[in-house]
Amino acid sequence: MPAFLWPAVLYALIFALHALLPARTVEGYVSGPDGKPLRYRLNGLVVFLATVLLWAGACWRGLLPWDAMYLHRWELLAGACVLGLLFTGVVVFTAPPVPNFFRGLFLGRVEQPRWLGGRVDLKMFLYLLGATVLELNLLSFGAHHLLRYPGEASPGVLLYLALFSFFLVEYLFFERVHLYTWDFVAEGVGFKLGWGCFVFYPFFYGIGLWATAELPGPGWPAWTLVPIALLFFLGWSFARGANMQKYFFKRDPGARALGIAPVAIGGKVLASGFWGLSRHLNYLGEVLMAVALTLALGHPEVLWPWLYPLYYVLMLGARQRDDDKRCAAKYGALWEEYCRRVPWRIVPFVY
Ligand code: NDP
Repeated sequence: MPAFLWPAVLYALIFALHALLPARTVEGYVSGPDGKPLRYRLNGLVVFLATVLLWAGACWRGLLPWDAMYLHRWELLAGACVLGLLFTGVVVFTAPPVPNFFRGLFLGRVEQPRWLGGRVDLKMFLYLLGATVLELNLLSFGAHHLLRYPGEASPGVLLYLALFSFFLVEYLFFERVHLYTWDFVAEGVGFKLGWGCFVFYPFFYGIGLWATAELPGPGWPAWTLVPIALLFFLGWSFARGANMQKYFFKRDPGARALGIAPVAIGGKVLASGFWGLSRHLNYLGEVLMAVALTLALGHPEVLWPWLYPLYYVLMLGARQRDDDKRCAAKYGALWEEYCRRVPWRIVPFVY
């Protein structure tokens, strides 16, 4: 089968696993048309692990070279692009038209589209798909590096793989927390999320390894990996800490986080802990993790890997401004008070 068609098989497999494997059902944050919170089937981690195991089993049995996804990366990218466009077309054009055609195409006509009678929430499926295909790409790109430099592989590439895999597994482990984020409260499913999760997330996020898998290790002393890993986990603690604190607050505004009672303006806008340091410390955390991943590859002189942290800076910088506007409109005077108390947008004492 031509590699161009592999994404169709893989994406269908992930969809089927998500729809068929057992899942826990939880109540989400946003409401459905009946005004009640939507319910979600969550089995992301199981689907992710099952897919990785199936891929590893196929490679182990010799049905597929370990680095097949690296060797055929351009065909896979092209196949995923076509699928992403088809998917976007189906999701957007099967929904009733909206006043602004282009906004509907880009951000979706339906806020919370669901298939199979509500069994598959498309947003949750898309994030799961993106994370799983990205993991396979990373493992295959890493395998190519290991096969290219037997016995001399860069330890930084191994650290990169370990940290990135941790990043994806922990996202799926805390899948439920994702239901309380911007993606669920502010946008629908159109080209941005559909094409984004079919193509951009699984292929662009690994651009660092895509660009450096052929290169030998930099020969840096092993200890240099320690500060890089520490930088990654510092970023992780900012992002995860802030997201968890908000999640517990939204579920129970009186709940204590790490034993400390929250300070909330008007009982609604959290202004303590991570949310008292800046208005989006979670975004700073994402950027620090991206920088650490790029440094782990050991080739700061190659510019392509830097596109990954640069993307975060641009995307999250813009999102912070949009979110500020959304929250100012929603919370009014409470938000003004919050901005007065916590003047830093993302980086405490800097920005
Ligand atoms: P947030 O999780 O910060 O969600 C923003 C929403 O949270 C606001 O619209 C508001 O919604 C609520 N909120 C904001 N400030 C407060 C406050 N002080 N008190 C109470 N509620 C508040 O942002 P995102 O959804 O953008 O990001 C979630 C996570 O995902 C972050 O860690 C982010 O970095 C990460 N991310 C990762 C990406 C990736 O590609 N890896 C891409 C984008 C994000 P409400 O109406 O509920 O009050």
